[in-house]
Amino acid sequence: MSKFYEVRKRDGAARLGILSLRGEKKQQTPLLFRVDSLSRGEEEIKVIHTEDTQFNDLFRDELWDVPRGTVLLPDVHPLVTKVNEAIPLLFVDFYVLSYASALLTSPREFVRRIIDARNAIPPDVALWVPSIATAENAALLVYMGVDVIDDMNAVITGYQGIYQTEEGDARLSALEDLPCNCSVCSSLRIAELRGKNSTEKALLLAEHNTLLLEKEVKKVKERIRAGNLREYVELKVRTSPFLTAVLRILDIDEEDFYEKRTPVARNNCMMANTMESLKRIEVKRFATRVLERYDPPVRKILLLLPCSARKPYSLSPSHTKFIEVIDRYRGHIHELIMTSPLGVVPRELEVMYPAAFYDIPVTGYWDAEERAWVSSCLHAYLERNVRKYEQIVAHLSGMYKEICSDVAGDLGIEVVYTCEEDEEVTSKEALNRLKERIAVLCGDEERMPGFEKKTSLLKAMADYQFGIGAGSELVSRKEGERIKITGQFPLYKLSVNRDVLARVVPEYGLLALTVKGARRIQHSLASYTVHIGDFLPKGSILAPGVVNAGEHIRVNDEVMFSGSKAFGVGRARMGGWEMVESRKGIAVDVREVAEIEPD
Ligand SMILES: [Zn+2]
Repeated sequence: MSKFYEVRKRDGAARLGILSLRGEKKQQTPLLFRVDSLSRGEEEIKVIHTEDTQFNDLFRDELWDVPRGTVLLPDVHPLVTKVNEAIPLLFVDFYVLSYASALLTSPREFVRRIIDARNAIPPDVALWVPSIATAENAALLVYMGVDVIDDMNAVITGYQGIYQTEEGDARLSALEDLPCNCSVCSSLRIAELRGKNSTEKALLLAEHNTLLLEKEVKKVKERIRAGNLREYVELKVRTSPFLTAVLRILDIDEEDFYEKRTPVARNNCMMANTMESLKRIEVKRFATRVLERYDPPVRKILLLLPCSARKPYSLSPSHTKFIEVIDRYRGHIHELIMTSPLGVVPRELEVMYPAAFYDIPVTGYWDAEERAWVSSCLHAYLERNVRKYEQIVAHLSGMYKEICSDVAGDLGIEVVYTCEEDEEVTSKEALNRLKERIAVLCGDEERMPGFEKKTSLLKAMADYQFGIGAGSELVSRKEGERIKITGQFPLYKLSVNRDVLARVVPEYGLLALTVKGARRIQHSLASYTVHIGDFLPKGSILAPGVVNAGEHIRVNDEVMFSGSKAFGVGRARMGGWEMVESRKGIAVDVREVAEIEPD
């Protein structure tokens, strides 16, 4: 818990924060400390050393006018118990992970110690991993929750004659040119640099290495701001087997760590360009929720369709054609879209994040892992829901058809295919075949009324966000009610007797509730409720005002808040667990608040 540090924005475990230094000087994190400025005493910070401190002293007021940090020792250190006992008592602004350079020997050790450190310290305290940052690994360090790094490694390697690049180290002697535009590299040629005496050369190399690291930190900050650091990390780790191993270990071993920290929605596109993209929390979370938080409507036929490049799918040229040919029978049909990397997307969830927010390279070539993942999603969906349908129709070709046929074989399910081998799904013949088969299988015509289409979308979105049950509570008509859904797809707005209850926010792929909407489904929102103290919030609710918060709440979740003086709705700026554990920072952006009159 800190006095001089505040997290302002989160992107997974990465954060943008403000560390207040001397006087009014504020520094944004991720922060790069220049070692020489620290040694000259220009940055006023105080690191508490276990060896020379009486912990009682730490509570003296005069020690409180600068940010303070304490050292995190490895478990094997003889002084470790002292620090661990003291941790709950210490009100510090940052922790320094000691012996960090030892982490570079094993990717597993690297993951273990940094994640353990992040888990052990409060969320509103900065983590400083000293001496190991390079332009190559800085993005990954920040992605793991490191807030402060320094230029120690840049300086030391400079003195060793190493010229760092964004892709790793190079020996000055091996270069023919200086592949950089920093102030050092643009002021002299490589021959001049080589000709300098050893001290001058070392200083210039150290300066270049530091400037390069500085530039990298700026790039990382922009990525966090844009909410796409993950894509950048997937790109950056490619330069080294060590960094790639770290990311792969994180994806498999630290799922819980990232699940708690990954925003539930974003207003940008998720790019799935690498093998690691399949392992992203957003992908796993979507697949899990389709199974656990989605209840398909009761229909005769399940129709499997391929995805489209344009999102939401309904608005794409291919889906416009599919919908046109099945339109007369659509009331009998439930549509499920097959896609990589999300697996299967029910039509009703096509607007949700990330279903409407992803892009992948499409080549027609699939690797085994991608294929296995999509198969497992379809397998799990059918295993759970196949009994709800009378017939399954697959309008698929290529790999999607192969996957479907394998899964159907596995489960012993009969599927009607409407595309021939190597036929385009949008070809006239295929579309005609789909039309004919559907007509035969459905029998009588049954169009889908616009109202039903809209209701099922809103219901599914509410279930996906808040859990099964929330949706039907929201859209079911009670006696004396007139339910109306207005707006063009996907900008639907739900009202009851003229009171707006909820609206779709396509920019984030979420459903936003009004106070009236939240009241209506209050009981289903228990895990998405923030209990606040005895006050009437204005623009935002700060962490100290939070008494308790649902543990399922993630960054950008729509939440309800409730206290003795106020009831309202807003968007979470931190996870529910973090609201409870933090003493600083904005917990909820308030959208609408209703004052509770005292009895
Ligand atoms: Zn340079």
